[in-house]
Amino acid sequence: MMIVMQEGATEAQIAHVVARIEDVGASAYVSQGERVTIIGAIGDREKLMALPIEAWPGVSRVVAILKPYKLVSREFHPADTVVEARGRKVGGGHFALIAGPCSVETPEQVIEAARAAQAAGATMMRGGAFKPRTSPYAFQGLGREGLELLAAAREETGLPIVTELMDPRDLEAVHEFADVIQVGARNMQNFQLLAEVGKASKPVLLKRGPSATIEELLMAAEYIVKEGNREVIVCERGIRTFETATRNTLDISAVPIIKLASHLPVIVDPSHSAGRLDLVLPLSLAAVAAGADGVIVETHPNPEHALCDGPQSLPTAAFLEYADRVRDLVTWTGKTIS
Ligand code: PEP
Ligand code: MN
Repeated sequence: MMIVMQEGATEAQIAHVVARIEDVGASAYVSQGERVTIIGAIGDREKLMALPIEAWPGVSRVVAILKPYKLVSREFHPADTVVEARGRKVGGGHFALIAGPCSVETPEQVIEAARAAQAAGATMMRGGAFKPRTSPYAFQGLGREGLELLAAAREETGLPIVTELMDPRDLEAVHEFADVIQVGARNMQNFQLLAEVGKASKPVLLKRGPSATIEELLMAAEYIVKEGNREVIVCERGIRTFETATRNTLDISAVPIIKLASHLPVIVDPSHSAGRLDLVLPLSLAAVAAGADGVIVETHPNPEHALCDGPQSLPTAAFLEYADRVRDLVTWTGKTIS
């Protein structure tokens, strides 16, 4: 349930509500709005219902949250969440332009992709060191060495790193190097992994599973936020449908649906959505128009020789023009790439 405090409720009154909720073994999550504070109470429904909450000082009213996700819902936190990594922001009018290779392959490849991203005004760089591959015989990523190459590129360009964590056993290494920890589509419902990144002190980029509903995606985000990490960005990256013209089908309606249902920033991955280079720009523009808070795009200095996802990777030489086209539309919508 959600406890809406009166305007001007004091710190002591808020602390009292939190303490009384915790007394019955439930958890209290405080969301400080501009005017009112909302306290989410999650725990045994019967015990919470038995509390005379509306009579406590400073309480305005108690409202049930009907959706299965609570902490990520807009009801609980009406204002947009703004996620920040090294001063770069996502959400609340800030549009993230994230670019880089599917996988980290060589020092030259990473630095070239990072330089192209920086030169075109990207806000973050991506690159996988631990790769979820369909085939066990395919390139699995460079692991820790890949993280070190990303860190060297960050050192030169200043761009924060977005990189994937697949296994809680690699959390320490990924946490050491990443600025944003990616949970990939295949792990969207790896609940132990979600709980682990929920305890981390770095923002999380959570990608939608190829067969997951929007509600399941938000429930996965809830797993992370429930552990205390409120810095979650969700990513629509295409879902499985009967259509074969594209690798996945970009569910563009997911963007406004999630933005209505949740306060979390929503970004779109136009590369994995279609698996086609020629669709990267149109799908990116569609994402901006639909209200997305960013895009995450795969780039490569030489896509023909990429070890992973070459056919959908923008050549770095084409990234500047791509970024200009995206920026024009972002600016038109009133957001800034910053
Ligand atoms: C990726 O972003 O590198 C990736 C593997 O994407 P997804 O998890 O969406 O398939
Ligand atoms: Mn990829």
